[in-house]
Amino acid sequence: MHKISTAKDNFINATILEAFKNGQVVALTGAGISEESGIPTFRGENGLWSRYDPQLYAYPEGLLSVLRNDPDKIVDYLDDLYSILFRAKPNPAHLVLARMEKDKILKCVITQNIDNLHQDAGSDKVLELHGNAFRLRCDNCSKAYRLEKDNLSHIIEQLRKGKGSRQAILKALSRFFPRCDCKDRLRIDIVLFGELLPSGVLEESYREMEHCSLLVLIGTSGVVYPAASLPFYAKDRGIKILEINSVSSNLSAICDFQLLGKAGEILPQLVKQLN
Ligand code: NAD
Repeated sequence: MHKISTAKDNFINATILEAFKNGQVVALTGAGISEESGIPTFRGENGLWSRYDPQLYAYPEGLLSVLRNDPDKIVDYLDDLYSILFRAKPNPAHLVLARMEKDKILKCVITQNIDNLHQDAGSDKVLELHGNAFRLRCDNCSKAYRLEKDNLSHIIEQLRKGKGSRQAILKALSRFFPRCDCKDRLRIDIVLFGELLPSGVLEESYREMEHCSLLVLIGTSGVVYPAASLPFYAKDRGIKILEINSVSSNLSAICDFQLLGKAGEILPQLVKQLN
């Protein structure tokens, strides 16, 4: 593997540049790409998950038990989560990927993130493996509904005001999660631990990789499956893999190239050298 530190020497290997110039690049992104937008990574220090135990808040059964036993905590969680997401803006890494798609270098972004920042940056083809926090979906008929930020802020305000009263919280939650046209209750369109990925998205991701010239892993620890199986699928097909991460990850061993540093610094340098 070629190890290159762009942070120090501002140099990007000619082989990587050549692979980009050939086009047909696919990016697989994780929480790390949004870290510079102010969204804590899953395993980063002082993140959301140091305040909310993932064993409870990242599992459907855990969330239901918190709602039953301490509804105020659900309010705090939704409030904290959406405050972070509302504040976040695309950073240079998201913007460079969107630019590369317009310039026909990048075929698509496959993301594990739920923050909508790739779309906010202007990326068109985004395959969301774990859903999107700004959508509601119906588990019964699969219909999805956009969650408008203004409406969302209003409901969260109502939830905040309802703290201390189970009845007021449940009333606000029923506004947050209204019923679908098919009458089932909607939920946030994100994949919790132990749940299946949205139908078809993993298959489409595999298909995108079959025809790519380079897979770029950006800010993913490679520990969450089945997303982490995608690089192995690419490797088996002889596709070159470039990792961009602040440190080595679980996937580093199968990567052909590695650029260590912040995605928001490395990607703009890379694009500069492509021109
Ligand atoms: P992870 O938290 O497990 O790993 C993040 C990776 O990014 C680490 O390897 C870290 O070294 C790297 N990193 C941190 N800052 C970076 C930077 N500035 N530039 C480059 N790399 C950086 O993330 P994961 O692999 O995506 O898995 C976590 C799961 O949690 C995913 O399923 C994801 O859906 C979810 N999640 C999403 C968000 C989001 O939507 N922004 C945030 C947190 C967690």
